[in-house]
Amino acid sequence: MISQATSSTTAIELEAKYGAHNYHPLPVVLSRGEGAHVWDVEGKQYFDFLSAYSAVNQGHSHPAIVRALTNQAQKLTLVSRAFYNDILGEYEQFMTQLFGYDKLLPMNTGAEAVETALKLCRKWAYEVKGIEKDKAIILVCEQNFHGRTISIVSASSDPDASQNYGPHTPGFIRIPYNDISVLKNALSDKNVAGFLLEPIQGEAGVFVPDDGYLNQAYALCKQHNVLFINDEIQTGIARTGKMLAADYENVHADILILGKALSGGMYPVSAVLCNNEIMLCIKPGQHGSTYGGNPLACHVAMAAMQVVLEENLANNAMRMGVLLRSELQKINSPMITAIRGKGLLNAIDIAPLNGKTAWDVCVKLSDNGLLAKPTHGHIIRFAPPLIITEDQMLDCVEIIRKTILSFG
Ligand code: PLP
Repeated sequence: MISQATSSTTAIELEAKYGAHNYHPLPVVLSRGEGAHVWDVEGKQYFDFLSAYSAVNQGHSHPAIVRALTNQAQKLTLVSRAFYNDILGEYEQFMTQLFGYDKLLPMNTGAEAVETALKLCRKWAYEVKGIEKDKAIILVCEQNFHGRTISIVSASSDPDASQNYGPHTPGFIRIPYNDISVLKNALSDKNVAGFLLEPIQGEAGVFVPDDGYLNQAYALCKQHNVLFINDEIQTGIARTGKMLAADYENVHADILILGKALSGGMYPVSAVLCNNEIMLCIKPGQHGSTYGGNPLACHVAMAAMQVVLEENLANNAMRMGVLLRSELQKINSPMITAIRGKGLLNAIDIAPLNGKTAWDVCVKLSDNGLLAKPTHGHIIRFAPPLIITEDQMLDCVEIIRKTILSFG
């Protein structure tokens, strides 16, 4: 039986009763999306200022991506990698040429792509770099977010993510983000094989490192023959105003990890890109995924990437980000204690006022027609689809201004 939930209340009750309680959503039940907008089951319209954690950069239900999805779905969806399919090679060629790598390994979710990068790094450590068996170390950063698998949460500093999921996977050392001297020290250990980082820490609350950090970190990794592993799952695909956030510092990582907007929110598609020296460490049978590289995913991803290029979304993200931050600066409220971001990956810090917190602000924003989600209790991320127009952005700023000032 498939039926549409009739009201927000019913849908919320059903999820609470029959679903796991691993999320705490805002009380809004969405049933439709188009461009920068979504609508709830009662027909109320909202601006989407989360974009599914930056998966919907191209806007909801972009017609070109919907066309790719539906056309391919009628032709061939999945054959597994037991056989070749007629699109995977073309997709791999397109992506490797676009990002400048020899090869791509296709996966589905972001976490799987990060796991893949960790595996590649370890294989390379033993088979190319010559690290002693089981001694390889991968450096990660405090406050990182790379996904939810056991190994990835083993590298996390967030107790919510890791507590009572032990025993944890060994082989990670955490260092502070945005601190070159600590990195330099950590790299003196000859067993360090890789450094995994986000070029902007998204889930932590949009922390942008100092100018030059990525570049210096990359140079240090090169000096020590350590792989620089760039997780652009949230920051990539034009979100920060360039195709990759690391492009701001001309850093071409040894391993690049993509996900989320790679498929424009249409289907789970992720990818790991690197050169032959690393990628060919993995041989047939040593890694894979039933759905990874399926024709539907490849077709959707190519269409989603073409939208990003043809509509020059990086440029729009850059322009709209400047506009958003400069308009937010004009809001005179003790509630906003910081504004930061790059392109359309932004956040504000909220100081409680008259007992009202970031959660209350988000509930009020949604009443006023804009959806955003608090993180870590006091941070609100503002990350609309990159197709947002200047007029729409000014409407959104007005909603934010009105909402914040209503708290006093
Ligand atoms: N890496 C980063 C930087 C992310 O922001 C996320 C998700 O938010 C992930 C990895 C995990 O991606 P997924 O939720 O698709 O597994």
